[in-house]
Amino acid sequence: MGIDFKQLYKTFSLQELRKGLGVTGRKLFNKKVTIMYPEEKTPKSPRFRGLHALRRYANGEERCIACKLCEAVCPALAITIDSEEREDGQRRTTRYDIDLFKCIYCGFCEEACPVDSIVLTDIHEFHMETNGERLIDKQGLLEIGDKYEQQIADARHQDAPYR
Ligand code: SF4
Ligand code: SF4
Repeated sequence: MGIDFKQLYKTFSLQELRKGLGVTGRKLFNKKVTIMYPEEKTPKSPRFRGLHALRRYANGEERCIACKLCEAVCPALAITIDSEEREDGQRRTTRYDIDLFKCIYCGFCEEACPVDSIVLTDIHEFHMETNGERLIDKQGLLEIGDKYEQQIADARHQDAPYR
């Protein structure tokens, strides 16, 4: 096998290195696109699918009517619901668990819900430290809903023309 002079020239003339430095030089004074997360954040779509929440009506009544459509539609079998009839004849959940390890954040539960009860918020900065924390129960979901209701309502309002 003979000597590849072309390759030899490329190696000793540092052609690749100079090419790389040329790219760096050209981009050096361009507008920076890097975001200094978490101090800086990019905007999120109102359809962003983050942590779940259960919502209430303005009078404090739970929206959820325990129809179990969300449980049925969930492809990851992440939702577990138990329910019973209240004294006033309305059906309500006695248990509403979501397994956050199983959930794939597809949003089908949200789409299926006839009363806009289960929603996916834009909260994405959450974590679990123990296996037990993967389950989020009805109380936890309602608390998230109560805390972020304004944000959730605003996101739905923005998205309404496209639904
Ligand atoms: S987002 Fe999808 S996977 Fe997660 S609970 Fe809802 S339906 Fe199930
Ligand atoms: S969250 Fe919605 S879909 Fe799920 S059980 Fe309640 S009312 Fe039905």
